[in-house]
Amino acid sequence: MKLTTEVCIVGAGPGGALLAYLLAKQNVSVTLLERHKEVAKEFRGEHLNEEGEAILKNHGLFEKVERLGLLRMESLEYWDNGKLFKLINPNPNVGHLGIHVPQAHLLTVIIEEAKKYSNFSLMTDTRVIELLKDEEGCFTGVKAIREGEEISIESNLVVGADGRFSTVRKKSGIDVTVRKHGYDLLWAKIPAPQNWEPSIKMALVDGMQLSLFTQVNGYIQIGWNIKEGSYSEIRKQPFTSFIDKLIKAFPQVKEIARLHINSWQDFVLLDVHSNYSDTWGKAGLALIGDAVHTMTPTGAFGLNSAMKDADILAAILTHETISNIDLVNCATQRKKEVEKLQAIQIEKEQNFATQFVIYS
Ligand SMILES: Cc1cc2nc3c(=O)[nH]c(=O)nc-3n(C[C@H](O)[C@H](O)[C@H](O)COP(=O)(O)OP(=O)(O)OC[C@H]3O[C@@H](n4cnc5c(N)ncnc54)[C@H](O)[C@@H]3O)c2cc1C
Repeated sequence: MKLTTEVCIVGAGPGGALLAYLLAKQNVSVTLLERHKEVAKEFRGEHLNEEGEAILKNHGLFEKVERLGLLRMESLEYWDNGKLFKLINPNPNVGHLGIHVPQAHLLTVIIEEAKKYSNFSLMTDTRVIELLKDEEGCFTGVKAIREGEEISIESNLVVGADGRFSTVRKKSGIDVTVRKHGYDLLWAKIPAPQNWEPSIKMALVDGMQLSLFTQVNGYIQIGWNIKEGSYSEIRKQPFTSFIDKLIKAFPQVKEIARLHINSWQDFVLLDVHSNYSDTWGKAGLALIGDAVHTMTPTGAFGLNSAMKDADILAAILTHETISNIDLVNCATQRKKEVEKLQAIQIEKEQNFATQFVIYS
């Protein structure tokens, strides 16, 4: 099968979905490809910061997401051995310390809005495997597999919004520098005890960083920082030592954690790394979001950065510019902003223990 479109976007994460919606609204014909049968299948970050909030508000999406459900964090707390010792409240002008937005809510709203435009098309269960090129080496589309069938989609511009292990990036020969951060993350989810306030709670237990994030619909997400690459060794030990550390840090979740975390099956591993590339585009091709600058979960910048890339790219793409846009130069400013955010992530990670210095 052969299809044609002006812009072919690979990956229906927050970056790709938002870009597709904004371009569709600008009357550009756009095809959004997602390898999963449903969008919102990929495990990813769900904390929106002020920047992401502003982008959604500017495009009239925030209120619609809020109707589906989101939760504003009312405090950032630092705990030591079951005792709160530092409390940060939101700046009254902002009103929160981050907003939990389930990815299903965010992506559903963006895609439903995009579907209102006849020039938008979404193809799920469609995995991009190759890029198409003309004789001059300019990218002219993608080759994908859908239900066992090969499809070619020709386009004036291919956008790789396909996340941290981007196929588009690899196939276009764009290199990234991968940075390890010395830690990986274990996640688990438990129901929140009654009257649990929307908060982010941090603790340091026996040198291990622990975080609790209140979520929409009465859940808490728990994050344990573990030494990079240590999970396979850790899994040989009883999982209960992680519950013991959790309870030492936050005794208030004791009963619920014991009831709901019953084996290693209840944990999810995130192999933490970041990466960056000097090249954000080539003739006929652009990269956005994690595909070109994977962020670590620290500071909750990744989701927001992907949406910012989409917002900026949409603002400069029109029928006239799509074929001859200077992707290298238009990314320069954005590249500097992302470099700064990645530096902030490293600083936050290195300085985490100093938050607890009064107790050491
Ligand atoms: C566990 C975890 C927690 C995080 N916490 C936060 C947080 O709280 N706040 C925050 O801002 N950031 C957080 N991040 C980072 C954030 O999730 C990412 O930065 C963000 O999702 C990047 O968006 P994206 O659209 O660039 O890519 P992604 O969200 O990764 O989306 C890429 C999409 O492309 C699809 N895809 C991949 N390959 C192909 C292919 N070959 N063909 C077709 N489709 C393809 C994938 O299925 C996926 O849907 C976290 C990340 C993780 C993993």
